[in-house]
Amino acid sequence: MLARCSSATLLGLEALTVSVEVDLGPGLPALQMVGLAGTSVQEARERVRSALRHSGFRVPLGRVVVNLAPADLRKEGPGFDLPVALGLLIASGQLPPQALEGVWSSGELSLDGQLRPVRGALAVAMRARSEGARALLVPSTNAAEAALVDGLQVWGVAHLTEAVRQLREPATATPALRPNAAGSQERRGGPDLADVHGQPHGRRALEIAAAGGHHLLLVGPPGSGKTMLARCLGGLLPPLNREQALELTRVHSVAGLLEPGTGLVGERPFRSPHHSCSGAALIGGGSIPRPGELALAHHGVLFLDELSEFRGGVLDLLRQPLEEGEIWIHRCRQRSRFPCAITLVGASNPCACGWYGDPERECRCSEGERRRYWGRLSGPLLDRIDLQVVMRRPQAQALAAPYRGGRDSRDGGGKRPSKPEATAAVAQRVAAAHERMACRNPGGIGNARLSGAALQELLGLEPQALALWEQALGQRRLTARGGERLLRVARTISDLDDQPRVGPAAVAEALTYRSFDGLEQG
Ligand SMILES: [Zn+2]
Repeated sequence: MLARCSSATLLGLEALTVSVEVDLGPGLPALQMVGLAGTSVQEARERVRSALRHSGFRVPLGRVVVNLAPADLRKEGPGFDLPVALGLLIASGQLPPQALEGVWSSGELSLDGQLRPVRGALAVAMRARSEGARALLVPSTNAAEAALVDGLQVWGVAHLTEAVRQLREPATATPALRPNAAGSQERRGGPDLADVHGQPHGRRALEIAAAGGHHLLLVGPPGSGKTMLARCLGGLLPPLNREQALELTRVHSVAGLLEPGTGLVGERPFRSPHHSCSGAALIGGGSIPRPGELALAHHGVLFLDELSEFRGGVLDLLRQPLEEGEIWIHRCRQRSRFPCAITLVGASNPCACGWYGDPERECRCSEGERRRYWGRLSGPLLDRIDLQVVMRRPQAQALAAPYRGGRDSRDGGGKRPSKPEATAAVAQRVAAAHERMACRNPGGIGNARLSGAALQELLGLEPQALALWEQALGQRRLTARGGERLLRVARTISDLDDQPRVGPAAVAEALTYRSFDGLEQG
């Protein structure tokens, strides 16, 4: 007898439909799998046989052929265990064929019949719904994420026997509870800008980065507060909307990083891989490509500390994804796509010893050593970072300010209160700038992602500002790309200040964030 059930395999963030056909015919007992099944799928034979036996079902005697269609699509992963087991039960008459009509399934079986979580259950649920499935059967640990998809019944089960019981009596099946989306949208408990003292230039750059989606490089000696500042960025960004949260959840689900029972990932990610990490860890890879750090930081912040310690080849891999906001991985003639709309924050010491430019400690590096150190931050990557900021160690004055109770003399001669502005106040300005961009820019994208043509059309550069920009191009030997980036930053500064046009002051301020142009040439 022939049985057929529906499941899916992952390709990037997508789940592609796979029809699992099980044929039980006369012959010597054997189980054969065909249809471009990878090693992890082939291993299903042993797991399924053992799981059936330990769950009290009969292992059919005869020749079994399992075909995974379409045959030209490579299948990987243990998620086919459950559909193969159910197909065998139908083919051997232990489960009525109509029980699986319109029901999709995915799940890994342990030898005793328990169901283990699979990667990408949310993507499978989305595919099942778009193909008109009635219900989806998944391991109970995956049920919360699968239940995020509207219009699909999700049955979470812990054991093969439970799966069979639910299929026999679907009326008793309890659909998985929909996770409370509102509850998962809380703000993360990262540091607050109110705790960052001094560093007015760095704070302002962080605000501009959050508003326009610009990448940021912080350069300063140890103890200048680069990491602390970077960790404040997430709090300045608006909460994820549902569509963004779903996409992010899908990335983490495909990576297998969702905690069992987790529904929506509601917080913007902050990822900070170590500088020894490989290219594959950063970009993603594997036989069924998994997302790397770049994609895991989607809609959030990727923080690369000690940027110049990363291997040059690894940093070069970042260039295209940063430009395009997505990563393509090629495996076995198939292409997987992962999104990575991230804000990159890089941090670096100014030189190998760390103290170049510090007023109190002396740098021990030679001129040549400093040049080599900078050479490691490949020029083209530096060229894609819009905001470059030099940070100094805060002086004793700034550190003492919160205890003095008076005015902080370092912050503009007593015009500002001594308590640094808190994250919530800055986030309001950022949100207002986001609204302005959403109304003006095509697709509501941030200024950092505007195409050259859109920038020319929407910039609104005042004549004086144009003259200043032209002058800077010549003096600083800016590349065409660098010049454009300067204008994008100036546009964001004007948005933060609620200026419809870009004036000379915005261009002048933008110029202060190009500290390292031409530095790598010496
Ligand atoms: Zn040095």
